[in-house]
Amino acid sequence: MAKYVVIHKKKECISCGACAAVAPDYWEMDDEGMAHLKKSIESNDLWTLGIDTEEARVINQEAADVCPVDIISVKEKEN
Ligand code: SF4
Repeated sequence: MAKYVVIHKKKECISCGACAAVAPDYWEMDDEGMAHLKKSIESNDLWTLGIDTEEARVINQEAADVCPVDIISVKEKEN
């Protein structure tokens, strides 16, 4: 079971590319030029991905930290 969840408010993306530059294993730019969190699931305009490892948490937190509009977050999963 995933320990953390990465959350992306994709519709507010300004297409700067910073997340995909620092964390390309998790982030890519889609055909419309918006960031896409790979393998994420969309629900109510939030794209989310469960992750398990500290390494994954750190790299996605880096993506969150470089996002100029602060639309990426990494949280501990509640069960
Ligand atoms: S860093 Fe933020 S604004 Fe820039 S492409 Fe990624 S999600 Fe979009």
